[in-house]
Amino acid sequence: MLFENIKQKLMDNNINLSYQRLKIIEYLIENPYHPTVEQIFTELHKEIPNLSKTTVYNTLRLLSEISLVRTVSIDDNQTRYDINVKNHGHFKCESCGNIYDFNIDINNENVYDLKGFKIREKKVYFMGTCRTCL
Ligand SMILES: [Zn+2]
Ligand SMILES: [Zn+2]
Repeated sequence: MLFENIKQKLMDNNINLSYQRLKIIEYLIENPYHPTVEQIFTELHKEIPNLSKTTVYNTLRLLSEISLVRTVSIDDNQTRYDINVKNHGHFKCESCGNIYDFNIDINNENVYDLKGFKIREKKVYFMGTCRTCL
């Protein structure tokens, strides 16, 4: 989603477009490696010295409540944040730890073994070594 669309969605939900919130959103758009609260805080704190980790956490929670971000957890216990809310696959590099998005037509995967089941969410995870690390 574009920055402008996101701003519009925040306004539609009566969420104040504070400088810090917008910076967090901008960071997620520019750094689609699925950062943790810790990583976002560490990077943005250099630029915004009065930013607190609580603000980062609360902003991300607010954004996920209105479906602007998704949480991603793979093999570790760390919650990572994803601004790409369309269904897509994740590739985790076991060397650098970055998580990359890839397009996959998850909705058209027919899983006959689950006939009669109600699927709430579909996740696709691949693991290996990314191009940069190779
Ligand atoms: Zn890598
Ligand atoms: Zn993703």
